[in-house]
Amino acid sequence: MTAARALDSVFSTVLRRNPGESEFHQAVKEVLDSLELVLTKHPEYTEAGVVERICEPERQIIFRVPWVDDHGHVQLNRGFRVQYSSVLGPYKGGLRFHPSVRLDTIKFLGFEQIFKNALTGLPIGGGKGGSDFDPKGKSDAEVMRFCQSFMTELRMHIGAETDVPAGDIGVGGREIGYLFGQYKRLTNRYESGVLTGKAPAWGGSLARTEATGYGAVIFAQRMLQTIAESFDGKRVVVSGSGNVALYAIEKVRDLGGLVVAASDSGGYVYDPDGIDFALLRQIKEVERARISEYAARRGGRSEFRATGQVWDVAREPGGIAVALPCATQNELTDVDAATLVAGGVRAVAEGANMPCTPGAVRLFQEAGVLFAPGKAANAGGVATSALEMQQNASRDTWTFDHTANRLEDIMIHVHDACRRTAEEYGAPGNYVLGANIAGFTRVADAMLALGVI
Ligand code: GLU
Repeated sequence: MTAARALDSVFSTVLRRNPGESEFHQAVKEVLDSLELVLTKHPEYTEAGVVERICEPERQIIFRVPWVDDHGHVQLNRGFRVQYSSVLGPYKGGLRFHPSVRLDTIKFLGFEQIFKNALTGLPIGGGKGGSDFDPKGKSDAEVMRFCQSFMTELRMHIGAETDVPAGDIGVGGREIGYLFGQYKRLTNRYESGVLTGKAPAWGGSLARTEATGYGAVIFAQRMLQTIAESFDGKRVVVSGSGNVALYAIEKVRDLGGLVVAASDSGGYVYDPDGIDFALLRQIKEVERARISEYAARRGGRSEFRATGQVWDVAREPGGIAVALPCATQNELTDVDAATLVAGGVRAVAEGANMPCTPGAVRLFQEAGVLFAPGKAANAGGVATSALEMQQNASRDTWTFDHTANRLEDIMIHVHDACRRTAEEYGAPGNYVLGANIAGFTRVADAMLALGVI
């Protein structure tokens, strides 16, 4: 069977086994589309059923999460943990709490996570979990009760050597604290390495909070260097204003760039003088308020816009040189990509997971824009989680600078591996192909070595 036919056959099986799961299908297709040359070169992968096995999670767990709200009413949510691949290490990946979460969402994220984690070069497998619980508008006590109920079920499936969850959308330091507290109480073990994203005061790593955003900007900077450019003096648009977006904004500022826009689900702010990072962090991270507040307090030339897309700022005088989608999946469409290309964009790095639609990616690539897929560009978060695991395992704590330097080295390694692999496979500059192939081959080789399991 030719490589192309083998891939078609795997994809048909994925469609048949997972009906209606469009985001999962999209994530699988993007990887399979990169693998034809690899399978031609390595028929042993096909003989061992590697691609078919990689597409099927090792385990999928779905559970009921009942909890009682502040009015004494019983509420019910659904919890998920998809343990995708453990050939390179314990399952590793975040938990997402958002009303849109379905099994489809967790499977697409878990699938991406396998290759992302492989790209870091660290010993971590791939997994993802979450719930359709919406932390927005809930009291701290409600979030705590939900987390305790969620962990009561999840704890029997996780462990420092088995599966190590962390944060994602809707899960930050507060949630990790409540989850860890309940795990510790149920197991009577202070097993620090069972969760990452903990606060530094009780087992977390310095620089973990900043890591995903910083890492995405370090990756983008490295891409810009390949065309003898840098962030210095460049106008940048960031979408989102959560953990990833915030620290991407800080890092761009530190590298001399000007972030002129950021967004949340209610709209976006345009600030031609550059987003005031400290103010935005105060509003979004500390007060958990809306981004409209930013323009109200910042004043000057900043403005809040409730309609349109954040990408529309590429039409403002000066255009946009770099775009960092850091909000959520499929948030940047082909229409937005066209706006960015017309506005002069040179580089796009995905801080979120799969934020650009396939049409948008194609458009960027055809226009010669440097494009970094999330599984490479946002790998800094999970990489620093693996550094947190190292600190926990050795009962040590590292300084901020030591951890941030390791993060920088890892991002450069990921960038260079993607670039080198793309060249090796005859597609120089194609980071999508490079990331998919480099991630896949590391997992595939381990699968061959471990036998049919
Ligand atoms: N949720 C993050 C990601 O998408 C981080 C996962 C982790 O730290 O385990 O990679």
